[in-house]
Amino acid sequence: MSNGIVHLVGAGPGDPGLITLRGVECLKNADVVIYDYLANEQLLNHAPPTAELIYAGKIGGRHNQDQQEINELLVQKGLAGLRVVRLKGGDPFVFGRGGEECEALVAAGIPFEIVPGVTAALGAAAYSGIPLTHRNFTASVAFVTGQEGKNKDESDIDWERLSLGGGTVVFYMGVTNLRHNMQKMVAHGRSPKTAVALVRWATTRNQQTLIGTVEDIADKAETTGFKPPAITIVGDVVSLHNKLRWFDNRSLSGREIIVTRAADQAGEFSTMLTEKGALVHECPTIELVEADDWHDLDEAISQLSAFDWLILTSVNAVQFFFQRLSQLGHDSRALSSCRICAVGPKTAASLKHYGIVPDLIPEDYKAEGVVAEFSRIDVTDKRILFPHADRARDLIPLELTKLGADVLTPIAYRNVMPERLNPETIFALEKRSVDCITFTSSSTVRNLAAMLGDDRLVDMLKGVTVASIGPITTKTCHELGLKVDIEPAHYTLEALVTALEDYFKKH
Ligand code: SAH
Repeated sequence: MSNGIVHLVGAGPGDPGLITLRGVECLKNADVVIYDYLANEQLLNHAPPTAELIYAGKIGGRHNQDQQEINELLVQKGLAGLRVVRLKGGDPFVFGRGGEECEALVAAGIPFEIVPGVTAALGAAAYSGIPLTHRNFTASVAFVTGQEGKNKDESDIDWERLSLGGGTVVFYMGVTNLRHNMQKMVAHGRSPKTAVALVRWATTRNQQTLIGTVEDIADKAETTGFKPPAITIVGDVVSLHNKLRWFDNRSLSGREIIVTRAADQAGEFSTMLTEKGALVHECPTIELVEADDWHDLDEAISQLSAFDWLILTSVNAVQFFFQRLSQLGHDSRALSSCRICAVGPKTAASLKHYGIVPDLIPEDYKAEGVVAEFSRIDVTDKRILFPHADRARDLIPLELTKLGADVLTPIAYRNVMPERLNPETIFALEKRSVDCITFTSSSTVRNLAAMLGDDRLVDMLKGVTVASIGPITTKTCHELGLKVDIEPAHYTLEALVTALEDYFKKH
């Protein structure tokens, strides 16, 4: 008895965030994934690297004969004892031929599971701000195939029922037959003035919406060259689109932005950009690793009570410092006699995890700001501990020493170059689809230049808007021949995001 099982999984309409948790779970355990044209390929990343990936679109051309081949493939893989995921765009049971695939599995005695997905109609409605039902407009909605042949003598579609009354009608596969379908609706009693929306590549960054009426939408689609795949929504609810539109009119909608931060730091920044509509390419150009010699830091930690101040200038410094503190068997109490200066609000916030409220948070996050703040305090003969990254600027220790302090600067972590750049980002740069690259430290720029090699930096970034977090990073950009287009007044990620929004509003 084989253990083969087939999971028919709805991939959702396009946005890879719209698959279900169960769908992801099935993918994670898959031996084989057989996926469709409309299923977002990014979802394949959930599958283990060992899984066999089969593109169903390549099995044949189209239609029945090829559906037969897909059914046979599912049966064959199932009989071989494999865990098969059949990944289908939208929902498997809405115009997805999931029914036919299940019938084949039943006939072959192969167990299966059906994981529903967000069908294209729902994706298109949500992401274009068109509620399919609304108390003021209609209480019913119908999903209809738009592809029923024009010459079909006896239609399976009850055009009269669809057309009379004000129910919302959603056509799948309805672009090619758009004119015919709209004429049918008018012929069966729907007002030619009824609003219509075509939503193409719904829920993806390529989403396009065309608004018209039953009588003019076909002309509009023709003059604008509107192509499938699209959902057609017919009904008075379409009038809400202007008011409820939210997805494709965000400040960074449609912008492709590269984030060069270290992988474990990129997430927060990427999320901020994604929520404004950007397509983010994460391409880490630094990797943060432990110090290779702990001697100096360990010695400092062993005599923490002898320090007056501890200065932490980044979330990384906090993390690596406390990690080492803990490895040596201590906790925050070891700092009880030491005052703490945190540079930047994120650094201050990260100290909270260790139960620490900083004594000083300089208003200006640059090294100069820290020095200015300390010059107001008498630091003569004070002992200051400044754990830092291997390639950090030495302005703070230098200036504080000038002020009479005794500053110790052990290395807490190192910035190293990752082994390689994200190939997808390089591909996007090569096809010139990237709008903007962001640099959040000098190392991110330097490493990118070094990793691209052969003086390719300037050429690769031709036509790409360059955003730098602050003057030091900007200076490094200039040294490497890059013109900086965006630099926020504050050195925070939030300010950088706002600066990007302002810039792209104008450009
Ligand atoms: N099972 C799928 C439908 C497959 S039929 C589902 O539940 O969504 C293919 C049709 O779905 C296309 O012709 C188009 O009308 C629609 N479609 C699928 N994905 C779409 C998308 N992202 N945007 C607009 N229409 C889409």
